[in-house]
Amino acid sequence: MADMFYDDDADLSIIQGRKVAIIGYGSQGHAHALNLRDSGVDVRVGLKEGSKSRAKAEAEGLRVVTVAEAVQESDLVMILTPDQVQRTVYAEEIQPHLKPGNALFFSHGFNIRYGYITAPEGVDVAMVAPKGPGHLVRREYVDGRGVPVLVAVEVDASGKAFDLAKSYAKGIGGLRAGGIQTTFKEETETDLFGEQSVLCGGASQLIQYGFETLTEAGYQPEVAYFECLHELKLIVDLMVEGGIAKQRWSISDTAEYGDYVSGPRVIDEHVKHNMKAVLKDIQDGTFAKRFIDDQDAGAPEFKAFREKAAQHPIETTGKELRGLMSWIKDGANDADYVEGS
Ligand code: NDP
Ligand code: MG
Ligand code: MG
Repeated sequence: MADMFYDDDADLSIIQGRKVAIIGYGSQGHAHALNLRDSGVDVRVGLKEGSKSRAKAEAEGLRVVTVAEAVQESDLVMILTPDQVQRTVYAEEIQPHLKPGNALFFSHGFNIRYGYITAPEGVDVAMVAPKGPGHLVRREYVDGRGVPVLVAVEVDASGKAFDLAKSYAKGIGGLRAGGIQTTFKEETETDLFGEQSVLCGGASQLIQYGFETLTEAGYQPEVAYFECLHELKLIVDLMVEGGIAKQRWSISDTAEYGDYVSGPRVIDEHVKHNMKAVLKDIQDGTFAKRFIDDQDAGAPEFKAFREKAAQHPIETTGKELRGLMSWIKDGANDADYVEGS
């Protein structure tokens, strides 16, 4: 079994002795900057001129400087801009200011794994990747908990990069939940696979097909929404608590029997075959190239996908229903989330 490490296995004073630049102040950026600051770490935020995020960071009392200035005055740089812009930000504003002894940190291995970024000699390259959305990384920290993290070292120039990465992971609260050591290759490939096949791509498509099947058969969209989307969270919460077995324990015998009979009919072996094909495209770089080429062309394919998905009838139904469900604090903690954006 993989070794897990916790708060007691890391030394917070290591990261407290560094000057940290957080580049980008979005989902992960705001969480890392605020959690580290609250853990007693010297943090500045690096943003491009005219950045929309600047006011948000300053409102939290953080010091905001340009990306280049942040790198110049720091000895640890965490890159938390979107993956597709990292290589440009890196080439133009980060690499020229990196010095031997510095550390370059990531929360996802994409740019290192696919060769879009290479660090200069003498620079530690490491990853602290929370396995959860940035807004939860902040919310859990404030509540005294944490989101589990993967920690990896790609280049150990100092000979102490892993201790540094563990200390950073502790600073953002990740080791309250636990850390696992991995590699950039394993984190990148499994992260892309998980989000594409199961968590995001697989789950979204499964929900949409369920909703379409019911509404096309004449059932009310509101009922279809509850059955195929809303209840999923309750089921997944049980799985997180006690595995698939616990959700089967909690549901009715009727539901459990239906799970065994119909689950493999819906998700049959073709799905596994398709998943293997998706994994192959991730491993051989086909997916990465398609994503980055589209981004470089102004993201026409990405924007078209987004537009089409937003028009699915499940979104209109859900918007109306959530407005009626006062107990769902829809994005209440996520002030920058705009429904439909
Ligand atoms: P976001 O999309 O939330 O990052 C947006 C931030 O990056 C904003 O502050 C934005 O500034 C800034 N930014 C965008 N372009 C530039 C640029 N050219 N130069 C400088 N700053 C720029 O990113 P995420 O937090 O989603 O992802 C960051 C990293 O974390 C990625 O590697 C991702 O894979 C990883 N990760 C993300 C998770 C998540 O929860 N989202 C989970 C685990 C890992 P402005 O406001 O001006 O646009
Ligand atoms: Mg990801
Ligand atoms: Mg039911």
